[in-house]
Amino acid sequence: MTTVPQNHLSSKNAAAADTKNLSTSTLYQLLQNCIVPASSANAKFANWSKTFHCVPLMVFEPSDIDQCRLIFQLARREGKTVRIVGEGLSPSDLACTSDFMLRTNRLNKLRVVDPEKQFVVCDGGIKLEDLERELATHQLALRNLGSISMQAMGGVITTATHGTGIEFKVLGDDVLSLSLLLADGTLVYCSRRENEELFKATLCGMGSTGLVISVQIRVEPAFRLRESQETRPFDDILENLHEIVHQAQHVRLWWYPQNKSVRVCSADRTTEPEQPDVNARGFLPVFLTHHLVEFFLFLARFLPFLAFYIARYVAWMESAPKVVVGESGSILRTDCRFAQHTTEWAIPYERTKECLLYLREWLEQEPYTTDGTYPHFPIELRFSAPDDIWLSPAYGRRTCWIGIIQFKPYGLPVRYQELFRRFETIMTSFSGRPHWAKPHSLGPAQLRPLYPHFDDFVRVVERVDPHGMFRNECVRRHIFGEQGSAVDPRVYKLYRP
Ligand SMILES: Cc1cc2nc3c(=O)[nH]c(=O)nc-3n(C[C@H](O)[C@H](O)[C@H](O)COP(=O)(O)OP(=O)(O)OC[C@H]3O[C@@H](n4cnc5c(N)ncnc54)[C@H](O)[C@@H]3O)c2cc1C
Repeated sequence: MTTVPQNHLSSKNAAAADTKNLSTSTLYQLLQNCIVPASSANAKFANWSKTFHCVPLMVFEPSDIDQCRLIFQLARREGKTVRIVGEGLSPSDLACTSDFMLRTNRLNKLRVVDPEKQFVVCDGGIKLEDLERELATHQLALRNLGSISMQAMGGVITTATHGTGIEFKVLGDDVLSLSLLLADGTLVYCSRRENEELFKATLCGMGSTGLVISVQIRVEPAFRLRESQETRPFDDILENLHEIVHQAQHVRLWWYPQNKSVRVCSADRTTEPEQPDVNARGFLPVFLTHHLVEFFLFLARFLPFLAFYIARYVAWMESAPKVVVGESGSILRTDCRFAQHTTEWAIPYERTKECLLYLREWLEQEPYTTDGTYPHFPIELRFSAPDDIWLSPAYGRRTCWIGIIQFKPYGLPVRYQELFRRFETIMTSFSGRPHWAKPHSLGPAQLRPLYPHFDDFVRVVERVDPHGMFRNECVRRHIFGEQGSAVDPRVYKLYRP
């Protein structure tokens, strides 16, 4: 089989009508084996960094489309919303809900592999790392990745997750077609040729158009990357920014303002043999770059100025030039170190230099001007090509993504809000668009001018989900402009598991 199995959609849609005739008790009975017991750890939810938590009314782990339909029928009947959750990593409350939660972890198969036409079809719940493993057995690979592969495919494509590379678009751009289960239980096929509006709204739709059941995505023959890393002075980067960004297929910059230096990581496809990073292995490197750093970050909770010196230490530890060659995933993924608060913004690539100059000035003042928060490290800069996905932060423009983090040593709370608020103000002044999976405070009034298709997106969502079954608090707040305590960004910070 080499195409998306569309022929089963009509017969499957007959099943959508059938669920309407079932009594509520039958629905519960049929769903018995996919309702997560309240005693199970999966009945509660916390994101990867444990910065947002919730206790949904009920959590479901369906393993097929018919069960998903029954869940939607139950939700319609009981007047509940359904939040679809992949791996629940998003650093904001994007995956949180107090109503029904549908976890996609059992909708996780690779269905079709076509090495000749270079695409695969997989379930929306498949974890990228599992997909990558299966692809490798067919000598295939995803074309690009973000910093991790722990996400589910549905999570990646509905948040415009991106990697780096000025010629590479966000990962969702590689999607050729989708099948989507709508709120009324019908299964719809969409692509750039068929149901185009729904397709462009669903990619980066934050799960608000429906449940992504299957994804046809472009892949390429498995490849190795040769990555060179070097540390250069910040001024040198500013001077040669354009050349550096274009010097390789995947360029990532880690800026250590405390050290006035930037780690430049440049990776290109290669046929060279593997050359692992031997110095990163073993007890001592891990102790020096992880355990010691985390301990000092812990101390910095009491002595904030220490964060400045820890940043310099880490920049120094990583400053030696190095070259590594490995399979694509091992090079594209990076070490995210510890749980963290993070926010990331997409600015027009052409304004990168101007923005960096402004940020440098701000960061020099920051610890002395507000609540004394010392920024953590590094500030990550990545690049992507323009795309045509309606709500993609890289829509229609070459993009520089700028992300900042505040680590949570040992998972403990740290200050970050004031710092992020001021960073957001700067980013918005550079026409920045927020990463949808990361916290920000923009509502429709600010977002509409940033996205030419914002109102088209709302129109499509209202058409396919007129009763708002897939709209959780985060979507209602940012996209629909609802205000008040029920949708407050802090509502899911109150619960502690
Ligand atoms: C350590 C770390 C590193 C990261 N690195 C990067 C990076 O390099 N680049 C980047 O851009 N982002 C990055 N992110 C953000 C991450 O890629 C997104 O948060 C992504 O959405 C997480 O995937 P998930 O499966 O956990 O999604 P979840 O957090 O579970 O859900 C995110 C959204 O996807 C929707 N969704 C999930 N599955 C489906 C489905 N089947 N159908 C419809 N909607 C669905 C949900 O409703 C929700 O709106 C990172 C996050 C972390 C924690």
